[in-house]
Formats: sequence, C-alpha cells, structure tokens
Amino acid sequence: MTDKLADLLIRDDEILPLEEYERMYPPRELEKGALVTRLAPSPTGFIHLGNLYSALADERLAHSTGGIFYLRIEDTDEKRKVEGAVESVIRTLRYFGLNFDEGAEIESDLNRYGPYYQRQRASVYHAFARDLLIRDLAYPCFCTEEDLAKTREYQSENKLNTGYYGKFAICRNLSEEEIRKRVEEGKPYVIRLKSQGDAEIRHTFTDRIKGEITVPENDQDVVILKSDGIPTYHFAHAIDDHFMRTSMVIRGEEWLASLPIHIELFAALGFQMPAYGHTCSLLKNDGGTKRKLSKRKDPECSLDYYRKEGYLPTAVMKYLMTVLQSNFEEWERKNPETPYTDFKFSVGKMGKSGALFDLDKLNDVSKDEIAKLSSEDIYDFLNGWVGEFGSETDREHFKDRDYILRIIRLVTGEGSKKRRKDIVTASQGVRLFDYFFDDAFRPEYSYRFCEGTVNAVLDGFAKVYDPEDDNNTWFSKVKEVAAACGFAAENSEYKANPEKYIGNVSDCAEILRIAVAGSPNSPDLCTIMNILGRERSLKRLSDGKLK
Ligand code: GLU
Repeated sequence: MTDKLADLLIRDDEILPLEEYERMYPPRELEKGALVTRLAPSPTGFIHLGNLYSALADERLAHSTGGIFYLRIEDTDEKRKVEGAVESVIRTLRYFGLNFDEGAEIESDLNRYGPYYQRQRASVYHAFARDLLIRDLAYPCFCTEEDLAKTREYQSENKLNTGYYGKFAICRNLSEEEIRKRVEEGKPYVIRLKSQGDAEIRHTFTDRIKGEITVPENDQDVVILKSDGIPTYHFAHAIDDHFMRTSMVIRGEEWLASLPIHIELFAALGFQMPAYGHTCSLLKNDGGTKRKLSKRKDPECSLDYYRKEGYLPTAVMKYLMTVLQSNFEEWERKNPETPYTDFKFSVGKMGKSGALFDLDKLNDVSKDEIAKLSSEDIYDFLNGWVGEFGSETDREHFKDRDYILRIIRLVTGEGSKKRRKDIVTASQGVRLFDYFFDDAFRPEYSYRFCEGTVNAVLDGFAKVYDPEDDNNTWFSKVKEVAAACGFAAENSEYKANPEKYIGNVSDCAEILRIAVAGSPNSPDLCTIMNILGRERSLKRLSDGKLK
C-alpha cells in the first residue's frame, strides 16, 4: 500500500525511520556466551510460584553467564491493571534473592533499552506496523465482533480450524479505495498480519528446554495492533525482544501454541529470533493423581504463602532449583555449604514435561537450611517474621533476645554433635518456643500413669531439684525418684524384669517433661528447666500434679 494510506491508518507523529531504532537500541556489548533474559509480567495481579520458577531460570541463565536480567512490564491491557503490581514484583523477587540489572522501576545506568513499559513504546510498534502495511505484509481489518463470532460459529459447525485465515480473512483483499472510504467513514479497525504461511507445512524447531519439536507454519492473520493502536502480545514480543536485545526467552509452555505466529512475525520484521525455552508446568500430587498447580485452588501457588508461613527464602530457592535442574540435588548433597548460585545452571537440564512441586520436600529442604544457620541468624530470621506476622505476645517475647537465643540454642542443639531439625518455618518454629513463656504455656497433662504415681514423681523431684546441678547430677536425681516411685532406674534392669516395675526411667522422665514443657516431646529437659529457672520449674512441677 502507499505510504499515504499507511499514514492514514497509523497516525503517529513520533514515528522515526526504522534504522533509527536500530541505532537507538544497538546490540549489547557483552562477553561471548553472556545471555540477556527478561521477566515480562503483565501487571494484572500478583506474581505466583510459576513466575518465580521462570524468574529463577532467567536470573540464573543471565547471571551465571555474565549477562543481563531485566524487567519489562507488559501493560497493554489497561483494564486489568492492578495498582502496585510492579513494585510488588520487584519486592517479591528481591525477597527471594533475585535482582534485576535493568528495567522498569530499577535504578540502573544500564537502562538504555527502555522505556520498559509497553504503553510507553507506542511509536516503535507503530513504525513497524506501518512498514508492514507498506510492504503488503499487514492490512487493516474492519470486521466487527459479530462478524468474527459468525465466522467462528461456521468454522466450529464445519469442524474447521477457527480463526482469521485464508478465505475467512475477508478484509485481506480490500482495495485501497475501500480502505480509505471506511477509514474516512470513521469505521474502527485493527491491523492484522498478512500471513504468508501454510499450516500444512511443518518445520523442526529447537527449543532449548523441550529439544527438537515440530511446528506448523502460521496461517493466521493475527491482530498486531488493536483498534486503539495498542499492540497485541505477539507483536510487542517480537519488537521488544528484538530491540531490548533479549537472547533467550524463557516462558511458560502455554506459549508454545503461538510459536508459529512469532516465527512468522520475526521473519516479516526481518529480525533474528532469540533462543526460546518453554518451561513445563508445575504439578502437584492430588490424591494420587498429578495435576497442574492452580492459582485458585492451591494456596502454595501464591508467593505470599511462603512469606506468611515463614519459609527461609533460600530454602524456597534451593527447592525450586531441585525442581528446575535434574542434577541440582546431587550437587547440593556434595556441596551443602556452598550457595546455590555456584551451581552451574544449564537450560538443557530443565525438565521437558511437568515438574512436580511437593511441599513435603520443600519442608525437608527448609529444615536443613535453617539447621545450617547460626543461632543469631535464626533469631534475626524469626524476629523478622514475628515483626511482620506474629502476634503482639510473640513480639513481646522476642524483645528478650538473650532469652530467645538460649531457647534457639537448645531447640537446634547448637554445639552438640547432631543438630536438631525441629524448625521448618518461622510460623511453626515460633510456636515451639511457647512453653518457655508463662503467658503462652498451654500444657496438655496427658500422663500415662495414675494420679498417685504422677504426683509422687512430681513431688519427689521437686524436693531434690537443684538448678545448679549439671546434666549428670540432674539425671541421677531423676533415677533416684524413678526408683522410689516403682520405675526401673536403669534400662537394663527394666529389660531383664519388666514385670517388676511400673515402667522405665524414661517413662518417669516423661511425667516430668509433660509437667514442665506441657507435652511428652521436647528437647533436653534439664536445659529447659535451666532456661525456665528454679521458681518457674518448681511451679510447673507443682501445677502439673493431678487433683
Ligand atoms: N506477559 C506475558 C505473560 O505474563 C509474558 C510471556 C513471556 O514471557 O513472553 O504471560
């Protein structure tokens, strides 16, 4: 079509000659092999686990090769925009230790490929749409929603592929005169690609994750500019990833179906395609069958879930690495103390089909990661969670840092040969501390012995208890009380003649444990009493008696 008609269709005074854009956004000067990746969310909601999973791959691919990881905001859908979504993406990723080098709302000298909001890039899309019109690779389409619905209905009834293609593309061959007339009448129009493809022809395409796949040619005259001049995802993707010099596009496998469109668009625009890796979906086990993680059904899909539950961010990232990289777990076993960022990330080691996300496994990783921290770091982590999500009472408790540190040392077994791994998350870990505070102590006196025995043990121990005793002396006193109350003082004695005793020394200690810590499961009881101090320990021994 003539330049004049193209100018009538694309009214934009800011359009520059095409070479200008190449000059404005030159290829990046990076080391050989350095990858440029991006996260390109639509600011329509809050990012979820699937986005984090993709972002981790993007970030690792860029940063392990000395490349660039940037943030582009795909805000073409104004209606679905959510206030604060961009800040939330940046904050959330930062919480998990992923940082952008450049992009929307990122302060960086590298921001030379912006604007990074698609709404602010109108003229570059318009310039290239205009060029496609002139080269007869695009055309305006005046079909209304009703026209399109009718075509779709006919195609469905006749079991034909749906869409705007071939003989169904009724605006494809409008004369220039007709186009001008309709524009002058004020009829709304979109700009469509004039596809040159044939869906019967298939090509091999190498996806960096899925390997060799077969893709048909595109034959759909897809919309590239909507009636308000805003580009569709397809068109903006081709233009932006070219001019922002993305070298690898990592995106969800739901985009595979549109790959033929993108191949044709890049060719029509004369741009070299970036490499693509389509990630598989995250699955979960649901009653024996695997299904896709769902934003609506599964709370663990929301990233807020991990903050509220109080997962250590590095635990979530390490677990995601095991899901993303088939050889990460083995590497981690050999290098437990090395940061996961030292692992050699490879796009080829990403799963080709559904990756199973398993909260139990995450919990195991989480326990291990917390057990690697110093008590001071555990305090800081828990205290941070308490500040944001804890109760007023929790916050009061955490003001006494030294007291909490003593509890943490006990709960983690710091200094002992084997670290305990009782803390999985902050929300669960903080509750393990409750019995050290009288205002949170909720004992369950679930003794397995009768009132006479329980009270005799508690009274007997209260009489001999001395907070100055070391662990050995403390335990020998438990043995004395046990013997006096009809328990075997030694395991071996109990084993030899179980019928002679009402129980073993550990059964006797359990009575003390229930009275002091409120449950039969707790770390070392002597230390617990030590932390509680003489008065509170004696009070609990007395309060624990059965009436
Ligand atoms: N805005 C698209 C989305 O959020 C980005 C897809 C892509 O990474 O290309 O799904």
